[in-house]
Amino acid sequence: MGKGIISASLGKLLQARGYKVTIQKLDPYINVDPGTLNPYEHGECYVTADGAETDLDLGHYERFLDISTSQANNVTTGGIYQTVINKERRGDYLGKTVQVIPHITDEIKRRIKLLGTKQKFDVVITEIGGTVGDIESLPYIEAVRQLKWELGVTNTLVIHLTLVPYLSTSGELKTKPTQHSVKVLLETGIQPNILVLRTQKELTIDIRRKVALFCNVELESVIQSIDASTIYEVPIHMLKEKLDLTTLKKLNLKEHGPADLGPWKNFLKKLKNPKHYVKIGLVGKYIELHDSYKSINESIIHAGAVNDCKVEVKYVHSEQINENNYQEKLSGLKGIIVAPGFGDRGINGKILAARYARENNIPFFGICLGLQCAVVEFARNVLGLNKAHSTEMEPKTPDPVIDLMEEQKGVTEKGGTMRLGGYPCIIKMNTKVYKAYKTKKITERHRHRYEFNNYYLKDFENAGMIAAGINPGTNLVEIMEIKDHKWFIGVQFHPEYRSTVLNPHPLFVDFIKSTITR
Ligand code: GLN
Repeated sequence: MGKGIISASLGKLLQARGYKVTIQKLDPYINVDPGTLNPYEHGECYVTADGAETDLDLGHYERFLDISTSQANNVTTGGIYQTVINKERRGDYLGKTVQVIPHITDEIKRRIKLLGTKQKFDVVITEIGGTVGDIESLPYIEAVRQLKWELGVTNTLVIHLTLVPYLSTSGELKTKPTQHSVKVLLETGIQPNILVLRTQKELTIDIRRKVALFCNVELESVIQSIDASTIYEVPIHMLKEKLDLTTLKKLNLKEHGPADLGPWKNFLKKLKNPKHYVKIGLVGKYIELHDSYKSINESIIHAGAVNDCKVEVKYVHSEQINENNYQEKLSGLKGIIVAPGFGDRGINGKILAARYARENNIPFFGICLGLQCAVVEFARNVLGLNKAHSTEMEPKTPDPVIDLMEEQKGVTEKGGTMRLGGYPCIIKMNTKVYKAYKTKKITERHRHRYEFNNYYLKDFENAGMIAAGINPGTNLVEIMEIKDHKWFIGVQFHPEYRSTVLNPHPLFVDFIKSTITR
């Protein structure tokens, strides 16, 4: 439906009017965090600087607002229950029956208010996942109902997003689903203040009047959200619909002059008027669901715009690449990205993709598992270690060029136990990465258990693949690059989590640049 994009767009507009804004996501599922979810289930797992594994909507918040979110910006039902149950075990509620109301709802309210108390924000936007009427979302809706009373009417605002389907046979827009979902919301005691209507076609004034009348909102509170050619246009649409002004008015906050969207519009202009075109390949095993690589896709869009380049991404399924067809499958691509991932499935296709890029001098960008595949490939085909592998895929390999980190060896639990979040890295001068970053010290976000095995480093460097970035504290290899190649860089971290519209990631920008001048 697009709640995440609407939340991010509203946040952007309020920010453009000088307000300090953050956004949080409440997810009604029982997983403590989405870290253990298969990407097919829920799309990409986004990682924050403080190492929280979170919903992909947080990526939108960061990309739109250019802010850093944290653990507190994503709450799940599992996390709420875990806190309440831990308190119960400690004896905090001794003598009391612990119940959904008030104990679960109190914890939800505490989490909503937490962001507002810890840091100085003018507005905290809380996006609630799921659909009104779901059993799972009921405690959240009840918490919101209570909060409206506690904080007062002008300090809270409920925005409800609904779908207005278009029936092509009769050429009609239907408002019934909107009326129904507002009715369900009313039954839980909440009157929405603003309605945002998702639609394919322009809403007529009559439709807006009808919705306003039947749903007890003012006409100006009926906001149209029409299909956009890019998500980055949605803030502009919302500005036209005055979503920001209506919100500010209802919260009794000043307008603060016109919204400053100059740099944003500049980005949109570049995005829509490309001078170049390139086609690159994204090799991965979750490609059926593009949301699995959300942040990578968005980073490519940001980097394309800076380079005045339209980038078409060909999704290449790593399971469908083999010895016999890899040349043909990858031919014509101006650059190749090998995606992050876990486990054995499709691993050979990824290794072959790295080989193809290396042998044909095609720009190559390996991210996390993508770096590890490039290392395995180099070990096998350049160093002649035929059986080299990562111990994740082949625990008994005689040449474990990628191996489990020491601190991971005793870990048995899967949830939240990887090397997560921001770690520093020192970049060597006179390297391709240094040219891209133009700085020596960087911090990038991680999400992995395995690492380059330093035992082999000398051999790699003598053969031309060098460690271009190193963690200063642990000496772990963070970046590998091939000297004698147009652009061949693999990174153990996830640069895609840090790319925003106004601050596109330097590695993506340089990678796309290298594909154009080829
Ligand atoms: N599976 C690899 C590891 O755990 C890579 C992880 C990733 O690509 N995010 O090290």
